[in-house]
Amino acid sequence: MTHPQREHNTDIPFLPYGRQAVDDDDRRAVWEVLTSDWLTTGPKVDEFERAWAEFCGRRDAVAVSSGTAALHVAAAALGLGPGDEAIVTPLTFVASVNCLLYVGAKPVFADVDPGTLLMDPRRVAELMQMHGDRIKAIIPVDYAGQPCDYDAIRGAAPGVPIIADACHSPGARDKGRKAGTLADMACFSFHPVKHLTTAEGGAIAVDSPELAARMRVFRNHGIDSDHRSRANAGSWFYDMQSLGFNYRLTDLQCALGLSQLGKLAVWLERRKYLAKLYTELLAEIVGVEPLAVRAEADPAWHLYVVRIRPEFGKDRDRVFDELRRRNIGANVHYRPVHTHSYYRKNLGFREGLCPVAEAAANEILTLPLWPGMDDDDVRRVADALLRIRG
Ligand SMILES: *Cc1c(COP(=O)(O)O)cnc(C)c1O
Repeated sequence: MTHPQREHNTDIPFLPYGRQAVDDDDRRAVWEVLTSDWLTTGPKVDEFERAWAEFCGRRDAVAVSSGTAALHVAAAALGLGPGDEAIVTPLTFVASVNCLLYVGAKPVFADVDPGTLLMDPRRVAELMQMHGDRIKAIIPVDYAGQPCDYDAIRGAAPGVPIIADACHSPGARDKGRKAGTLADMACFSFHPVKHLTTAEGGAIAVDSPELAARMRVFRNHGIDSDHRSRANAGSWFYDMQSLGFNYRLTDLQCALGLSQLGKLAVWLERRKYLAKLYTELLAEIVGVEPLAVRAEADPAWHLYVVRIRPEFGKDRDRVFDELRRRNIGANVHYRPVHTHSYYRKNLGFREGLCPVAEAAANEILTLPLWPGMDDDDVRRVADALLRIRG
């Protein structure tokens, strides 16, 4: 997926849909930590958390071992549990919704807007009417890198805490405001296919000191102090006050994250430029329709998603196969969460629940987009689509 590979019938290099960029500075940063005293729970964690909080425009950031852990930690910090419900979007990676299952809460799916494929605030308003005060949280996803309309979602559910799944949107803005600041908490992932990587990793950006403290305890078994604070205090005593997990991010990873963060602004510009180039080139191909961008949104362009419409003459699966045959690593993000076997068999969800997302799911295609791509790579994809259409 994120590794170059060759397929049988061509010598053209494989173009993956996403790929990390790791350079000698990154390698040196990790090496330095390897030769230091703290491989984990050390000073690089604090440094990365401060840098990420600043990047997000929030008071604090809590580093954790993955984006999935970030969502679990955030759900737990809000105290979500059995009997609680939370509004989620179907068009996302399963982790955005699984976090509710981890804490015993129930997902309530709000269908998406047909143009942007972001959680539709009108559906949120309807669900608030039907479910009332059982709804204890909302988890919108900044799909493909575009921030959701958080103002409208908040307006539809006044007082309900919002956890943004911002795994696609670091660096995005809405009405000039940064993606990390639009909800009560914002969760990020540092998986290699995302904007910057720590191999595996994640973080929650937050303003509330209480929530940040609760999340730091939860990521460390529910214990009230960590290894380094005990070492500094010359004490051995600790107390586990609640049930938590080991969701810590290592100093090796935080050093990599800090080094990567220094390059993120340039990468964001490059993603934006390549997305614009795609939009220009694809405008000439009938039946290939990019996602709508909201008027005041400035997306971070994690994914470049198009819909293959009936006018194209071939369906999405056919286009996917023909791109793959040309060594172009298209992908599909995502199968709607409620249509996965586990959600159908164990939780009783059925197809037909979110018709807009389900119809879109048959047409969406993710085209390669990552900062190391050349302009010619984009031209190659657009040209392939033109030829496939015939
Ligand atoms: C990547 C991703 C996650 C999970 O992140 P991991 O770091 O892989 O655990 C969650 N939500 C969305 C929308 C993602 O893209």
